[in-house]
Amino acid sequence: MRKLKAILLVTIGVIVMAAGVAAIAYKVTDIDKVMCGNSVMKPGTRKCSGDASAAKNGVGLTYDEVKRKQMANRESMYTVGGVIALLIGAGTAGFGGYRLRRGNRGEDAYIDIELSSAERGSGVIKSITLNTLVGCTACRDSGRVPGTSQRCGYCAGEGRVPGRRTVQAEFPAGVVAGQRIRFAEQAAKGPEGGVCGDLYLRVIEQPPGSYL
Ligand SMILES: [Zn+2]
Repeated sequence: MRKLKAILLVTIGVIVMAAGVAAIAYKVTDIDKVMCGNSVMKPGTRKCSGDASAAKNGVGLTYDEVKRKQMANRESMYTVGGVIALLIGAGTAGFGGYRLRRGNRGEDAYIDIELSSAERGSGVIKSITLNTLVGCTACRDSGRVPGTSQRCGYCAGEGRVPGRRTVQAEFPAGVVAGQRIRFAEQAAKGPEGGVCGDLYLRVIEQPPGSYL
């Protein structure tokens, strides 16, 4: 569902953006009513002779001049509206896209790992098993029974289930205590087929004399 909402946001955003672009590009070629103050002006009228206090626009101008002015006003309204729609559309589509990329990502994990001074000096590979969330094999991570829209019963529609993951974590030679190393996409599986979170292992000093 998260993915569907994100796709919907992107779609709406793109449509609003397209409407904005169309409005900006729109050219006003004609208007049905040329107004002299509060009354409609007839084509060919030499001058708009309305009461200057009631009719701010058009007084003293010819029919063609008033018409041009009104067309320009309307066109700038379309442009302003179009720019606003473009910005709103871009924001909506961008937010949807962000959710598509990040929304389904699994949680990161942070673990402290004790390394002896010898291990820190020469580097070491440690096999680390973490309790985390892994993909649901019953529905192939989708959260839906394959070929249907029915919710998967094994993962309750999440597309992931509690499980274990073993990582062969390589610590380079010269690693120091306090250093944190990132193992990309080695933590919890994201919901509904999302990518895995990152695993961060922080090196801590193994107390001398402990040989666990
Ligand atoms: Zn499932």
